[in-house]
Amino acid sequence: MLEQLEAILSRYETAAPRYTSYPTAPVWGDAYGPDEYRRDLGAVELGAPLSLYAHVPFCRSLCHFCACNRVITRDGALPTRYLDVIEREVAAVRAAIPEPGPVSQLHWGGGTPTHLDPGQLRRLFAAMTDPFTVADDAEISIEVDPRVTTNEQLQALRECGFNRISMGVQDFEPQVQEAIHRTQSAEHTAELVAGARRLGFQSVSLDLIYGLPFQREDTFERTLKTVLDIGPDRVALYGYAHVTWVAKQQRGFERKDLPDAATRLGVFTLAIRRFLEAGYVHVGMDHFARPEDELVRALHERTLRRNFMGYTTQAGVELLGFGPSAISELSGSFAQSHRELDAWEDAVSTTGLATMRGHVLSEDDRVRRWVISRIMCLGELRAAEFEEVHGGVFAERFAPELARLETAEADGLVVRTADGSLAVTELGRILIRNVASVFDAYLGEQRKLERPLFSKTV
Ligand code: SF4
Repeated sequence: MLEQLEAILSRYETAAPRYTSYPTAPVWGDAYGPDEYRRDLGAVELGAPLSLYAHVPFCRSLCHFCACNRVITRDGALPTRYLDVIEREVAAVRAAIPEPGPVSQLHWGGGTPTHLDPGQLRRLFAAMTDPFTVADDAEISIEVDPRVTTNEQLQALRECGFNRISMGVQDFEPQVQEAIHRTQSAEHTAELVAGARRLGFQSVSLDLIYGLPFQREDTFERTLKTVLDIGPDRVALYGYAHVTWVAKQQRGFERKDLPDAATRLGVFTLAIRRFLEAGYVHVGMDHFARPEDELVRALHERTLRRNFMGYTTQAGVELLGFGPSAISELSGSFAQSHRELDAWEDAVSTTGLATMRGHVLSEDDRVRRWVISRIMCLGELRAAEFEEVHGGVFAERFAPELARLETAEADGLVVRTADGSLAVTELGRILIRNVASVFDAYLGEQRKLERPLFSKTV
C-alpha cells in the first residue's frame, strides 16, 4: 500500500483543511460577535450534553516549529490574571444557557496547560466545572509539555478527575531537537508516562511531528523505536507546516535543512509502517490507537466524530471554548474568541463574552458538514443514510463533486458502489483530506489566495 502511495503522491500534494470544523475558520466573519454568540447560547437545547475546552496560552520558551496561539512568558502574575478572567468568562457563558446538560467531555490545550502550578490547575478546573454538572464517565483530558510537567501537577490533575493525557514529543533526535529549540529526553518522557499510568490515567497519547529540520528515515527510526518502547495508547503523527508568515520564528530554519519531499514522505510512510506493524489501528488522518482504545471502538461502531480537539467519541455535544482564541461549536454555529490575551481580557470585562468572529451554518453548510464528517471519521458515506437524514439522492446532489473524484477512484483511494455509496480505501485514509475536500464549497476560492491557508495533506 505504501509503495502505491509513493507512486501516486505527486497528484495529491496539495494544501487542504484538517476539517476540525466545516466551514473552516477562514470562512467565518466578524459580523458574528458577542451578541450573536449569546443568542445562540440561549438557544442551546435544554439538557444538551456539553464539552468544555480551555485554551491555556502560556509557554516557558518558544519551540521554533510552533504555529499555535501562545504567550512566551516567565511572568508569574499572568496566570493569576488569566484565571481571574476565565472565571468571569465561564460565569457569563453559563448565565446565557437556560438549562445546561451534563459535561461529558472537558479538555485543556494550549500553549502549555501545565505552565500552571498545581494550585492554579485546581482553580481552573473548579472555575470550569463548578457552574456545571460533570458526568461520572466524562472524558477529561489535557495536553502537557513533559519538559515543564511534574508528578505534583499530575497528582493534582488526577485528583481533579483528569483521566486522559497527551504529551508532546515531536522527535527525540538531539540534532532535530536543537534545531527546533526543544530539548526533551526520552528518559524523562518515559518516566512521566509511567507516573501518569501509576496515578491511574486511563489513556496516554504521544504527539510526533514529521517534516522537521534534519529529520531522516534512519534517525526517525530511533525515535519511533523509543516511542513504541514507551507504548502509548494513542499516537498522533502531525506533518510540520512551514508557514513563515504565521510563525515568524520558522524563518530561522534553513530551507536546506528541511527534508526534501522524498525524505518527508519516507519519514511519514516509515512511521505508518511501524505503527501498523506494532498493532496500532489507523483511526484516521494522523491518529493511531491500540485496538482496545475507545477511538477504535467508536470507529467500528460508526460513532467516531471530529471536533477542534481532533477525533472524539463524543457525538452531538455542544462545545464551549474558553480562553484566548478558543472556539465554540454549537449545533448551528461557530464562535471564536479574541486571540490576544489583552483583547480577550478587555472583551470579557466589557460584555462577558470575548467573541471575535463566527459563522451561522446555512442549510448547504450543514449537509456538507455531515458529508465531510462521515468521510473524515468513518471513511465512508452510505447513500441510504444520506437520503434518510437529508432527503434526496447523494449521487445527484453531489454529481460534480463525484465527477472530480474519478481520478481518486482510478488511483484506488475510493470505491463507489452500485447504490451510490462511497467508501474510502486503506490507501485513501492516508489521503483522507484530499477526498473530503472535494465536498468543500469554499476551498476553490480559498486556493486562489497567494498564501495557502492550510497545511499540505502529506
Ligand atoms: S509547541 Fe507547545 S510548548 Fe512549544 S511553543 Fe508551541 S505551544 Fe508552546
